[in-house]
Order: sequence, then structure tokens, then C-alpha cells
Amino acid sequence: MKEERTKFLHLDLKGISPAVPRFREYLAYFASLGFQGIVLECDCRIPWKCWEGAGEILYTREEIALLAEYAESLNMEVIPLIQVQGHMEWVLKEEKYAFLREDGFFNDLCPSRPESAEKLFAWIDDVSELFPRAKRIHLGGDEAWHLGKCPLCREKIASDPLRRGKLGLFADHVSSLARYAKEKKGLQVLLWDDMFCRTDKELLNPLLDLFPSDTVFVHWNYSLKEEEAPLPAGLGNRTVWGASALRCGFANHFVHVLNPVGERIRNIRNWEKASCPVLHTTWGRPNNLWNPYGPWEALIPEFYAAGRGTKMWEQHPWHSFTSLLDEAMKHGEYKKLEHALALARELPFSDKWEEQSRNFFLLGIQYELLRLEAKSHLEVMRARSVLGKYGRMDPAGCEKEYAAGREKFREKISAWEKDLETFWKENCLSDFEEYRDLRKAEFFPDLLFGEKEKKES
Ligand SMILES: [Zn+2]
Repeated sequence: MKEERTKFLHLDLKGISPAVPRFREYLAYFASLGFQGIVLECDCRIPWKCWEGAGEILYTREEIALLAEYAESLNMEVIPLIQVQGHMEWVLKEEKYAFLREDGFFNDLCPSRPESAEKLFAWIDDVSELFPRAKRIHLGGDEAWHLGKCPLCREKIASDPLRRGKLGLFADHVSSLARYAKEKKGLQVLLWDDMFCRTDKELLNPLLDLFPSDTVFVHWNYSLKEEEAPLPAGLGNRTVWGASALRCGFANHFVHVLNPVGERIRNIRNWEKASCPVLHTTWGRPNNLWNPYGPWEALIPEFYAAGRGTKMWEQHPWHSFTSLLDEAMKHGEYKKLEHALALARELPFSDKWEEQSRNFFLLGIQYELLRLEAKSHLEVMRARSVLGKYGRMDPAGCEKEYAAGREKFREKISAWEKDLETFWKENCLSDFEEYRDLRKAEFFPDLLFGEKEKKES
């Protein structure tokens, strides 16, 4: 009997991504953890033929093809993922492709423009050229938030004899692409299921019937409860896979370096009871127009738990440390964070991934401490400026001391930035400037040191 593939790892390259040699090492690491396949979302990172002029290229086409080949040599299936309606920000933000926007929004592509389908068929052609051995393709299809808003789409919806509303428009568009991928390219199609989960049951079945019968609907639930059934009942006899998140949006994600670990591992654990294949997502940014999350080094505990299983993770020597760190992060208390920092310094590591992960935890905790210190300096400055108006000022005395304290703080920030840069170089990571500048903004340099934003040359 053919082995059932059950654990796929989704890699979202629009976030911070490693250079090719490091990427290869990661693939070997993922295979060693027990992942049986990679769902590769290249997004803006490679020069797609049909989207000339768009993208932030990080890999050549040849490099991506070779990485896929290498993953396959490690016995992992590679499933390319592209988006066909929502989350096409990386294309639609370009003026060149503005005409494809749904009602002017950057998030959605308008399915009613004739050029849209043409472009997407060409994209599927391009995918199958680049991944010639692929057996499946993921066509995305989640979060089409502005579906049916433009005049063309409204007109189409109004003239639909079946009165299927917005979802009819969505299903017609996406299913035509799914049929193309299946019939012309022989690819089994995967789709996120969230747009369908919002539809009432009576409408749903005829919509699902538009898709090739072996289409896989991937049900993502990043906050699956322990007592909750993992899969929705509404999709009938369709093939459904599950999806966890090793990393996804969290409170004030743009401010923090470290994401909460415990809630992600609970999510993985609650998906372990599902009998279907599970796709573990590792989002690189909330979307192309938002901040990059941390590098993959931040996710070593999550990779470990998803690959080896959460039972194994519970035996891991870092298990209690990550709980303590989550607690410290949640409350943002200086003392607790200092304690976490001391513990992180002592963490044992059994391979280079854990070593780098520990280094990233150190940077992340130090950053949280610096953020708190920045806030405290800022509070003092505000209070002093009000008090100055009431004559409570001694420029030669305490004001000088406060200024000296801030100067010392500036030195600490510089040292931290240097360490961050060293880490980035050591791990061959992308997007350093963007990541650093976002962090720097949290130290209020313009307010604390009177710095105006400088353009990097
Ligand atoms: Zn439209």
C-alpha cells in the first residue's frame, strides 16, 4: 500500500528567508524532523514570467527548481502554492497591475476582468514549468475580503440566473482555474476552505460540484480547541485536510520579535487528533503589505513539535523555558524578562538549529527589555518637560544625568543592532534593513535622541 503522507510544512517566502545554501540545510532538517512534504509559497520572491515588473526577487527560477529537486531527493513532496484572488498584494500593489484590482483594493484581484483569468492560466503554466514533477498545486483562495465590490462584479452577480450571490462569482472563477490545473496540467488542486465555510449549506454543494472531484479543501484553524472536532461537517464527502499555524498573526505582531510559543504548540497538539493530513503553516508576514515576522530560527520549538510530535516536545529540555518566556512576554515585566534572559543563556542545545534558535531568543528578550527601557526614558522626558513649565528644572544637575542615561541607552541599542546584524549574516537571512528599522522605531530615536529618520544610502 502507498504510504499516506500526513505532515506537510508550508513555507511562506515573503517573510524573512534564508539564502540558498542555508535553505538546503533547512530542507534536510525538516526531512529529519519527519515532514513528508513542503508547500512552497514563493509569492514575490522569484521572477514569475507572467508578472514581469512585480516582486522582490530573492531567488532565481533555477535556484527554486533546484531547491525543489533537493527536497524531493529527501523524500519530501513539493506542492507549489500561488494565490488566485485574495492575497495578491505583491502583484496588485504595482501600478502596472492596478487595473486588475478589485474595486481599487490591493488585496483582491477582480475575477470579472477578462485579463485576470488569462494571467492566472499563464501563472499555472509557469508553475508547472518550474515544478515539472509536482503532482499537486495549491491555489490559495482564502480571505477574498473585497469579493464582488466593483461594478463589473456587481453586474455579474446581479445577472446570475442561479442567484448564487458573491460566492457564485468566487466559485466560478476559482473552479475554472482548478479545472485548468487538473485537466491541462494533471495537477490535483488544493484550496483553503474559508470562503466556502461562510456559505449556507444549500448553496454550497452545487458550488463544490464545480471543482474537480479530487480537489482537496484545506481547513485552517489556528485556534482549534481541545474539545473541538478538527474538521467542519459542512464540506460533505469532499477531501478535507487540516492546517495548523506554527506562526500566524498575534497581538501587536509588528512590535515584537518573539511570537508566543505555547499557543502555537497547543494548536499543533490539537491537530494531532485529526485523521487527515495536516499542513503546518509558517507565515512570513500577515500579508505582503505588513511586517516580516522573525526568521525560521525563531520557530525551532514549533518545527520540532510539529515534526516529531508534541509528546516529544514535552520531553524537550526547553519545554518549561518556553512557557516561562511566554508568561514574561505576555505581561511585559522587566524582572520576568530578565529572569527569562538568564535562563535562555543557560539553555542546552543539541544541534546548530537549537543553538541559533537560542541566539535568537536572546536577541528577542534583550529587545523586549530595551523596549521597556525606551518607554521609561520617554516617560521621564515627558514628565520633566511638564515640570519644567512649573520651574522645576535644573539643567546643570538632574537634566544632565537624564541625558547621560539616555546616551548610555543609545550605546546599548547600537550594541544590540550589531548583534542583530551578526545573527542575520551568520544565518544568511533576507530583509535585514526592514527588520532593523522596524525594531529601531520602537526605541523612539527621534523623541529620545532628536534624530530625524535618515535615509539609508
Ligand atoms: Zn470585480
